[in-house]
Amino acid sequence: MPDCLFCRIARREISSQLVFEDAEAVVFRDINPQAPTHVLIVPKRHLSRLAQAQEGDAALLGHLQMLSARVASLLGLKSFRLVANSGRGAGQSVDHLHYHLLGGRAMSWPPG
Ligand code: AMP
Repeated sequence: MPDCLFCRIARREISSQLVFEDAEAVVFRDINPQAPTHVLIVPKRHLSRLAQAQEGDAALLGHLQMLSARVASLLGLKSFRLVANSGRGAGQSVDHLHYHLLGGRAMSWPPG
C-alpha cells in the first residue's frame, strides 16, 4: 500500500529504530513506548487487521508469533506480553496488522 505508514517503514522510506528484519517481517521500536521494551512486529505484506486475515495468511501469522518469542529472547525479556489490537474499538490506530511486544515491567490484567 503506497501511503501506509508501516508499509513505508518496512520499505525504509520512513526511518525507524529497527531491531530485527527477515523476509516476512520487520520489528522496530514503538515511537510511544508503553513499557521499557515496546517493539512492533510488522509483516512486510500489507494486511489491514487481524480480523481481515484469511486462511491463506495462517502461516504468516504463525511466523509473526514465533518471531515475537525469538525477538523477546534477543532483547533479553524473560516474560513479555503480545498484543494485537484489531479495529478502532480495540485501540487500533494504524491500519496495518501488527503485534505489540511489551516487556521489562510487571504487567497488570485486565488491560484497559
Ligand atoms: P495500534 O494503536 O495498536 O494501531 O498501534 C500503533 C502503534 O504504532 C502505536 O503504539 C504508536 O505509538 C506506533 N507508531 C505510530 N507511528 C509510529 C512510527 N512512526 N514509528 C514507530 N511506531 C509508531
